[in-house]
Amino acid sequence: MSFLALLARNRLALAGLVVMALVVALALVTPLLPLADPDVTDTGNRFLPPFSEGALLGTDHLGRDLLSRLLWGTRLSLAVGFAAAVIAAVLGAAVGIVAGYYGGRVDNLIMRGVDMLMAFPYILLALAIVAALGPGLLNALIAVAAVNIPFFARNIRGITVGIAHKEFVDAAKLAGMGDGRIILSEVLPNVIPVIVIAMSTTVGWMILETAGLSFLGLGSQPPQADLGSMLGEARSALITNPHTSVVPGMMILVIVMAINLLGDGVRDALDPRLRSGALSRPMAATMVRREGPVPQPEGEALLALRELRTEFHVKQRVYRALGGVSLGVRPGECLGIIGESGSGKSVTALSVMGLVASPPGVIAGGAVHYRGEDLVGATYERLRSLRGREIAYIFQDPLATLHPLYTVGDQLAEAIRVHRGVSRGEARSRTLALLRDVRIPNAESRLDSYPHEMSGGMRQRVGIAMALANDPQVIIADEPTTALDVTVQAQILSLLDTLRREKGLAIVFITHDFGVVAQLCDRVAVMYAGRIVEEGPTQAVLETPAHPYTRRLIACVPELGEGKRVLHAIPGLPPAVDALPPGCAFAPRCDKAAEACREGDVALHGGARKVRCLFPETAPETDPETAAEAAQ
Ligand code: ADP
Ligand code: MG
Repeated sequence: MSFLALLARNRLALAGLVVMALVVALALVTPLLPLADPDVTDTGNRFLPPFSEGALLGTDHLGRDLLSRLLWGTRLSLAVGFAAAVIAAVLGAAVGIVAGYYGGRVDNLIMRGVDMLMAFPYILLALAIVAALGPGLLNALIAVAAVNIPFFARNIRGITVGIAHKEFVDAAKLAGMGDGRIILSEVLPNVIPVIVIAMSTTVGWMILETAGLSFLGLGSQPPQADLGSMLGEARSALITNPHTSVVPGMMILVIVMAINLLGDGVRDALDPRLRSGALSRPMAATMVRREGPVPQPEGEALLALRELRTEFHVKQRVYRALGGVSLGVRPGECLGIIGESGSGKSVTALSVMGLVASPPGVIAGGAVHYRGEDLVGATYERLRSLRGREIAYIFQDPLATLHPLYTVGDQLAEAIRVHRGVSRGEARSRTLALLRDVRIPNAESRLDSYPHEMSGGMRQRVGIAMALANDPQVIIADEPTTALDVTVQAQILSLLDTLRREKGLAIVFITHDFGVVAQLCDRVAVMYAGRIVEEGPTQAVLETPAHPYTRRLIACVPELGEGKRVLHAIPGLPPAVDALPPGCAFAPRCDKAAEACREGDVALHGGARKVRCLFPETAPETDPETAAEAAQ
């Protein structure tokens, strides 16, 4: 969506934009309007009230036309305010970027200087500068810009420090780019939104400050009008002729309000993450807009997904991330979900507990039955009481899911205390037991470690401990070992396996690694483009894959000691889920695809082994012809 379209969606910002556009347009055309001379006095007509003959807004204490003075004054105040903001932003940002980027002594030197400026009360500093330079509008402008430089410098330095150590800056350095280019092409684009935000919120402020200096007689000099000096001159008639101060006062109010509303809108519209709705505050649980019949609970599965459809509504597009997923897992069972990246594994996991961010996520159909209760229709309160207590998650990157500033002991204790009213001491001893459960050596001392003090494998153990904290019935693990090296991965897998045998946990294990599936899972479901294409007992699926996609996925896995076997990559890419082909989604990449595959919807058929293919490699329960008929 374009910047303007985004801005236009924000009503308040749009109102601010319209008002500002009007004010600026008025200021621009002021010299062309048939106005009275703003500086000509007419003492005979002092303090005419508004709507008098020849003076729409009345006149001031010297009989000057208030409308004319207001428009000329607005013009001047806007010009000075904007100029001051631009100067302060450019200089402040330059100082901040240099300090933040180079760091160390440069940073220290610059920022201490900035701190010295900041140590003075703001207006006092501006007054001192004007006093030194002499009164006058230009000097007021310099003073206002100067006192605002530290504000920009501090802000931008903070952002730059965060960026200067990011991987993409390191990558640019490794690519041989010079500091100047890195600052311009890597750092600046990331700080510009911040500069614009800071500017849009301070322009109003600077207009006020300039008005303040003029009010005190240090800015614009008589007879020249700006909004501040008009207020200053009207001060003595505040009670007797309030219109003389109300007129410039209202204008200042309108300008500052409009600029601030607009500034907020600009900030939101400038952030690319907002365009996809990523930064907008997600709803507490995924939005549900189910169409079609809601499946009823059946079978003995503990957790069962039925024809679950999750979509992302981004602008006009609908991404069908899940196109009817049905899965079930029994107590003590481990179900693997495998598929290429982007096939919808994570969305499946997150949909269970309403954790898909909305907007843009919408659950458009189907049901998730947990012990026969439909979680898709459940209230947020209900979901919250189940999250972590009955169904817990383990995510891929424990460093991202653990809070960096709390010890792991505190975080585990918190996870327990959210669901149970236990004392601190009790929570701590339970935490210790959890760390032992996940085989963390020296659990006692590890309680007080911070996440960064642990290795990746340790952290993932903490992640598992946290998932176990409330003795859940189901654990959904979304690629929990992908970030770990193989030895640690093997340890974590055997840990999970033991836990499920000891505690009768149902595990849904998401991965893209067949080796992991073979090691841990009883059954496996293969996902492609948001749908299950094959499901069955792990061994059977691995040994005699029925879907061409599964076969080719397995053919991509290198095997140790297999010498020079050719690895057959699957040509092409998975389809985009906002433009799925009709018929089988894998047909475009499939070497067996026939006309029939590209037409009607292909159903998932079979019993314990299911396959969504008209021409399966092996047909354990149905032969291809009846399958083809079933799909008609
Ligand atoms: P993976 O199988 O790698 O875990 P995901 O479940 O994360 O894949 O993603 C499934 C599909 O959903 C992808 O095609 C992705 O493009 C889409 N998707 C995920 N999040 C969003 C989002 N916020 N907006 C639009 N599409 C999304
Ligand atoms: Mg994923």
